[in-house]
Amino acid sequence: MSQDTYSFQTKLLHNDHKVDQQTGAVSVPIQHASTFHQFDFETFGNYDYGRSGNPTREALEETIAELEGGCRGFAFSSGMAAISTSFMLLSKGDHVVLTKDVYGGTFRLVTEVLTRLGIDHTFVDMTDVEEVKENIQPNTRLLYIETPSNPTLKITDIRAIVSLAKQNNCLTFLDNTFLTPALQKPLELGIDVVLHSATKFIGGHSDVIAGLAVVSDQELADQLAFLQNSFGAILGVQDCWLVLRGLKTLHVRMEHSSKAAHQIATWLSEVPEVEEVYYPGLESHRGHDIQANQAQGYGAVLSFRLRDREAVKQFVANAKIPVFAVSLGAVESILSYPATMSHAAMPKDEREKRGISDGLLRLSVGLEKPEDLIADFEQAFNQIRQNVTPS
Ligand SMILES: *Cc1c(COP(=O)(O)O)cnc(C)c1O
Repeated sequence: MSQDTYSFQTKLLHNDHKVDQQTGAVSVPIQHASTFHQFDFETFGNYDYGRSGNPTREALEETIAELEGGCRGFAFSSGMAAISTSFMLLSKGDHVVLTKDVYGGTFRLVTEVLTRLGIDHTFVDMTDVEEVKENIQPNTRLLYIETPSNPTLKITDIRAIVSLAKQNNCLTFLDNTFLTPALQKPLELGIDVVLHSATKFIGGHSDVIAGLAVVSDQELADQLAFLQNSFGAILGVQDCWLVLRGLKTLHVRMEHSSKAAHQIATWLSEVPEVEEVYYPGLESHRGHDIQANQAQGYGAVLSFRLRDREAVKQFVANAKIPVFAVSLGAVESILSYPATMSHAAMPKDEREKRGISDGLLRLSVGLEKPEDLIADFEQAFNQIRQNVTPS
């Protein structure tokens, strides 16, 4: 059995960087050198200067490329560094069509930075293929997808958007942060550039800020390598090592957390205080069938809506297990309040149009026993019930 035929789960551990070829070390060495001695005046070695190439970073880049099924991976100092550097594949006069509920940082980059550089955009509902089609202009160079979207977990039909992009000579980028290659392999569906905030599930332990990009086309790989070196937003070696360590448990973490998220979403659907549950694993979810058709699972993030801000406040004050924080994708469950956290910069009416009401909470499920989380939430709902003054 060759390494190529190993399952994803096995490849996480048994890949080209399983042991250090020089020492047999069963952990990738952290190579701090910023510069590399050249043994020959005429012919230089594989490495010259640390921004352009470093063996520790290369180990992470090769590993993520293999896991996403691409030809080359790139490690950046944050998810936003990966995203903004990739956007530099575009030029002045180009136009981007992107999903309305794109990550806040990407929204800021596109609306406040790229516009200054003469790169224009149109926001669309990516779940509506007709709407995407109608908004493609002669100068549209890129269709930008995020699926499932944040925080209402809308599902975009990846194959449909890829086919539209191919008909119109556009590139496609997909932010795969929520599902990771453990659950979704966008390159196999024809996407050109896969992007990650490795700060989330890939790192997995709330202890590193990192970004990744992966491509399967050699020409695109060369262009991105040039941009990575030109902008210089590379990931430091300690952080590369932390991401590599986090990756080893990616499969078990995603498996446990997705299953727990499904269980919690199902339970929440029956709670009278919960007005709506957003989780693609629920059959009632609008994107359920598409998700089942393009991914290997439904992920570990769900959102739910309570009556109002006051109900949310009481729930958060009484839920003891999850941390209340910005971010997601960690070993500990994270509860966030999009209205004042991820989407604070968005005007209230814009937020509400996107379903991000004052009653919406997002939960990223960690590795706790789901029954413990459910019991914790049950007592938090009981507190709300006792505080409600009967009308
Ligand atoms: C967090 C996040 C980002 C940005 O990543 P950073 O590592 O914080 O720069 C991009 N996309 C999504 C979906 C995210 O959740």
